Amino acid sequence: MAVRALVWGENVHEQTNPTVREIYPDGLHGMIAAQLGQDPDITAETATLQDPEHGLTQKRLEQTDVLFWWGHAAHGEVADEVVDRVALEVWRGLGLVVLHSGHFSKIFRRLMGTPCALHWREAGERERIWTVNPGHEIARDIPRSFTVENAEMYGEPFTVPEPLETVFVSWFQGGEVFRSGLTWRRGAGKIFYFRPGHETYPVYHNETVGQVLRNAAKWGRNPARLKSDIIEALQVSLEDTPEKIEVRGPKLHEEGEKGLR
Ligand code: ZN
Repeated sequence: MAVRALVWGENVHEQTNPTVREIYPDGLHGMIAAQLGQDPDITAETATLQDPEHGLTQKRLEQTDVLFWWGHAAHGEVADEVVDRVALEVWRGLGLVVLHSGHFSKIFRRLMGTPCALHWREAGERERIWTVNPGHEIARDIPRSFTVENAEMYGEPFTVPEPLETVFVSWFQGGEVFRSGLTWRRGAGKIFYFRPGHETYPVYHNETVGQVLRNAAKWGRNPARLKSDIIEALQVSLEDTPEKIEVRGPKLHEEGEKGLR
């Protein structure tokens, strides 16, 4: 069964900046979906901020294996209710790929629990991306290093939690370095942050970048998606204990009482 990818784009700069519209006539989300769709084992759909519920209804999330997130100018306009929904779905096993300026999105900061800040410079400088974990599934068919000729610099420190794995590290012409490809787990969900991208440069036309996105889609699917409700604190009845026990000591709660969420 093909990996079901959903590319979410805030679709703001595409509407307001002619340069961005020229480079990405179908939006950044459209271009990213086209890159994913080059692989016959991936189906890629898109959703945008402007769609009802930002195109991220519960049903649609459940029918998605991996969600790609592009946002920059409108992080604050993403409804908290939708962020809650996506965060819980990631915990259940939805894969999440956060791209470039998505480092400051509500969903990424929620799942990381840290500021996710960095240094940046928009000077069109060269970026050399090093594959530092060549055996990783996301690095499949990716060379030892590759370049993006015009990039926005992102520099360390990148204030995220220590990652589970570091797949890529970037060097920039101006001298800075940055951890460009990082993974985490949250519950059953796999999370990948991938740095390359920027509205005014054709980064998502780059074939090697496209290959990383396709690899990430395949890596991010967890077929063992949790279906159960995992936000309730459930009291286990005395009748249901695997080993028989008797109550000892004073009690605060009644048998059958529900826990607070
Ligand atoms: Zn940027």
